[in-house]
Formats: sequence, structure tokens, C-alpha cells
Amino acid sequence: MQQKKIVIGNWKMNPSTTKEAIQIFDKTQKHQFLKKIKNTEVVICSPFIYLSSLKKISRKVQIGAQDVYPGDTGAFTGEVSALMLSNLKTGFVIIGHSERREKGETNQNINQKIKSLISKNIKPILCIGESVRDADHTYLGFIKKQIEECLEGVSKTALANIVIAYEPIWAIGKNALRPATPAEFLEISIFIRKVLADKFGIKYVRDMRIIYGGSANPENTLPFLLDGKADGFLVGRDSLDPNKFVSIIEKTENAKY
Ligand code: PEP
Repeated sequence: MQQKKIVIGNWKMNPSTTKEAIQIFDKTQKHQFLKKIKNTEVVICSPFIYLSSLKKISRKVQIGAQDVYPGDTGAFTGEVSALMLSNLKTGFVIIGHSERREKGETNQNINQKIKSLISKNIKPILCIGESVRDADHTYLGFIKKQIEECLEGVSKTALANIVIAYEPIWAIGKNALRPATPAEFLEISIFIRKVLADKFGIKYVRDMRIIYGGSANPENTLPFLLDGKADGFLVGRDSLDPNKFVSIIEKTENAKY
């Protein structure tokens, strides 16, 4: 069954107060357009500290986290588990963001986190993507390895609940080279689905959502949807601006194919 499109905000380590977090979330959620939305899921992944306040006001916008520790409870200073997040009814968690991989997170760590989330019925948003696109296409092997290792031992039936976010590192953040092009995204999403199909069988991956992240904005939303066939977006900077974020959501919801 075809799934809804999905637009996910990654607030990263922003904003600096609970009051501001509530304001941004509320302004996004209370936008006129959000009330009518039917074909698009909307998620905001905030810092852990704001999740319980945002959960209380969450209606059209679901809450998500930006990491998890694979364990339930125990002597793991500073960590937050999937059990804790599920008690808060957190729907989604970003896993393997390049800003975490940069700090040493491995495909094996990510694999454990994904399994832990699945065991608690929380949907993982698995980030993959290369740091450079070389002329010899070695980045394809790099992405294949990320997919295979991060999803090793994951059951086929869990796949529909995993969102794959293709986020080329060179396209992320204010120092980005440029966003990827819709054609580049289309090519890589076909490749990602093929790698997944070879591992798990096409039947289980046909309806998985593969979304684009990396300087996504209101201007490039439609081209990514129409020409890139994106199933949605992972949005960094523009998710902190309710007008821009809602514009991305609106274009996603209204895209005519
Ligand atoms: C991100 O880091 O997940 C991201 C997509 O950031 P930005 O949209 O700011 O490039």
C-alpha cells in the first residue's frame, strides 16, 4: 500500500528555550493549511529536552527525536532509550545523521539503534549519504555499504516503517556546496531501492519512503517531488521557520503528478 508523503523537520540543537520551541511548533501546527492536510505526514524532531512539552500540544504535527540509545534502562550516563521515547509516544527518531557519524557513530551502532526502535514500534529515519561525489562513482559502494550494514538482521516486515533519508553531506547546512539536483536524487533513490530489493526482496521495499535532505527549501520542493520522485523531505534550517516549513509541506501536499 502506497504510504503518505512525509516532511520531517530536524531542529538539531535549536532553539535555546522551551518557550521558543513551543512557539515554533505551535505556529507551524496552527497554520491554516495544516488543518486541511490529508496526504502528507509532518514530523518535527526536536532536542530531547523539549519532547514532553511538544507532545502535550502535538496534533497535526508529530514529535520525533534525533537519536536513541539501544538499551531500555541502566548505567548509561547521558543516554535516552527507545523505551523512554515510546513511553512519551514519540513516533519517529532520526538515526545516523552525518553530524553524529562525524563524531564516530558507526553503521553497527546505527544498526543496534534501529533494532531497538523497531522493538518499541518507533519509526527510524535512517540517514545515509556520501561526503563527496567522485567521478569514479565510489560513493555508490559507500552508500550500498551503509544500507547493508545499518539494516543487517532487520526483519523484512519492519521495512515499511523505516524512512530512508538520502542526505549527501556536501548538500547539508549553511556551508553546503549546493543542494543535490532532482536528477541526482532520482538516480540515487533508484539505486537505494535496488540495493534494498536485492537484500530483502522488492515486495518489502516497494513502498518504503525514500526522502531527500540537504538544503531543501520552498523553491526546490516541487522539482524534487515531480522530477526527483521524492517521497518527502528531511529539512534542517527551514524547519525552524514556520512559514518556510509550511510552504514545503503545502507544496508536498498539493503536488500534482
Ligand atoms: C540536515 O542536516 O538534516 C539538513 C537537511 O539540513 P539543511 O536543510 O539545513 O541543509
